[in-house]
Amino acid sequence: MEKIYDVIIIGGGPAGLSAALYAGRARLDVLMIEKMTEGGQIATTNEIENYPGGLEEDSGPALSLRMKAQAKKFGAAMVRENVVEVDLEGDVKVVKTDTNTYKAKSIIAATGAKPRLLDVPGEKELTGMGVSYCATCDGAFFADLPVFVIGGGDSAVEEALFLTRYAKKVTIIHRRDSLKAAKYLQDQAIDHPKIDFIWNSAVKEIKGKFEVKSMTIKNLITNETTEIEASEEDGTFGIFVFVGLVPLSELFEGKLDMDGGYIITNENMETNIKGVYAAGDIRAKTLRQVVTAAADGAIAATQVDKYLNGH
Ligand code: NAP
Repeated sequence: MEKIYDVIIIGGGPAGLSAALYAGRARLDVLMIEKMTEGGQIATTNEIENYPGGLEEDSGPALSLRMKAQAKKFGAAMVRENVVEVDLEGDVKVVKTDTNTYKAKSIIAATGAKPRLLDVPGEKELTGMGVSYCATCDGAFFADLPVFVIGGGDSAVEEALFLTRYAKKVTIIHRRDSLKAAKYLQDQAIDHPKIDFIWNSAVKEIKGKFEVKSMTIKNLITNETTEIEASEEDGTFGIFVFVGLVPLSELFEGKLDMDGGYIITNENMETNIKGVYAAGDIRAKTLRQVVTAAADGAIAATQVDKYLNGH
């Protein structure tokens, strides 16, 4: 007989993993589909300082692995596949991956968000060759070299602080004259002897072949452009881009109500389609953190249980 899951969770970040845990504990037949490593954005985040109970020496990947093990302990099935299409209409929902077709009575969309690109010449060509979106992954390649961090939010400042472990010097380039990051992060960065700032400036071009050789920045107040070149001694420098997030909601476009690409739900994580829920960073909301993603996942799975079993 054709297998029909109680719930399919699309995405294995903190929202998806938390939903898998709660659905498993509710004895629902649950499948979580993640295309990459479980953990989503925290899989590439070194420290998770503000998750309640988080340990100082803990890392994003370690927390993800514990969340995964905990969900598995309660029976959640997980596959690593890329979802390419969803049919959300009707009582039985259909999820197609590049290798399989799955069916379920309900869906939790927990596809999260991905880093926004600067969208300047040279960025794509030099990604992985000096331009990076992950300090934990690539920071060590820039030991004793200068690095530039682009952005002014929590990610930029947190990752700039992390990069001071390796880099000779970290310069944060921000398009405003002050940071947007949480005050405790700002204070740490401003006081850090290895961190400098270039304010009111935007990157216009990145140049180099197989490694970054120079970068053009423009002062947005004076319109003056400056070329930052790698010194002869260093040969190159790193550029770490943290300029916000883009929702990963293409699968649901035209199917679910959205606001700027983020899925609209009520406080029970219900979308405009019965039996379809959204949780975590993909949801239109004001605070995108591990703790709110985990909370969304718990609420969504509890509501699925109510929807299917009436309690
Ligand atoms: P964010 O808060 O959206 O900040 C993005 C920053 O990049 C802003 O300073 C923005 O400047 C700048 N920016 C946007 N587009 C740009 C462009 N094209 N060129 C140059 N600069 C650009 O993004 P985030 O820091 O990635 O954080 C995303 C979410 O995750 C936030 O909700 C954040 O609180 C959360 N987060 C939390 C933690 C934590 O709690 N420890 C850690 C990381 C992330 P403008 O201000 O001018 O738009």
